[in-house]
Amino acid sequence: MYYFDAHMHLTDITHANLKDMALHNIRGIVSPVQLAGTKPNSPDTIVDMWDFQLGKQLSRAKAFMIDAYAMIGISMVATPKNGLEDLLKLQLEYLEKPKVVAIGEVGFEPGSKTNNDTEYQQKLLEAQIDNAMKMSSCIDIHLPNVMEKKVLFTEKCIGIFKARGMDMKKVIFDHCSDANIEMVLEAGAYAAISVQPWRKVTPETAAEWILKYSSDYVMVDSDASGLPSDCLAVAKTAFALEQAGADKVLIEKACSLNCQAAYGI
Ligand SMILES: [Zn+2]
Repeated sequence: MYYFDAHMHLTDITHANLKDMALHNIRGIVSPVQLAGTKPNSPDTIVDMWDFQLGKQLSRAKAFMIDAYAMIGISMVATPKNGLEDLLKLQLEYLEKPKVVAIGEVGFEPGSKTNNDTEYQQKLLEAQIDNAMKMSSCIDIHLPNVMEKKVLFTEKCIGIFKARGMDMKKVIFDHCSDANIEMVLEAGAYAAISVQPWRKVTPETAAEWILKYSSDYVMVDSDASGLPSDCLAVAKTAFALEQAGADKVLIEKACSLNCQAAYGI
């Protein structure tokens, strides 16, 4: 079985990382693209990033037999100075392009260095939920890392989705933990666990949570980026699950099939 990394930042992944991933059977990834923490000088910068992802980055992965898919989002950590209306219109066109499987990662980040106003972030999210609904697209929701904020913004996002009538089967809540997985599953959405050194989530911890919630709606990702990360996180979680006595079906679901089902791959 090939593993799928449900969220990694391909622009931050080296040639050597891609080779290691392929050798460890990680042959599928879903990747957002954003200028994390940097204010784009022009809305065109955001479009350039989307084009860079679709035109260059996906084929870098393909050279290592890794099937890469893109999320196209207007991020709360790289908010545009102007031109939001045009970007939102263009996003609809990008959602129709091959290999684009979702809007993401979007949502709330109180630590955003480009615009940390919760009301602004909510408007940005709502506009993108409307785009997702128009195009029957999935949407990947970033959640803050601090536990109380993770819970708070999970609740807030569920409320926003319900108010707008979004199909919760098209929603993936990312960077989930033991604090919010149950809420996400009860809302009928997918929960993704980011196994990442800076978050202090180890493969063993993720295996414990997966065994606890044993579900068709839980998946694993590395969120590999410029922060301390492990691009082999999904393969290591599969191994930790095996060591913890998980059956093959559960390992395949958590480390591959649930991600593909969520993103319609
Ligand atoms: Zn994120």
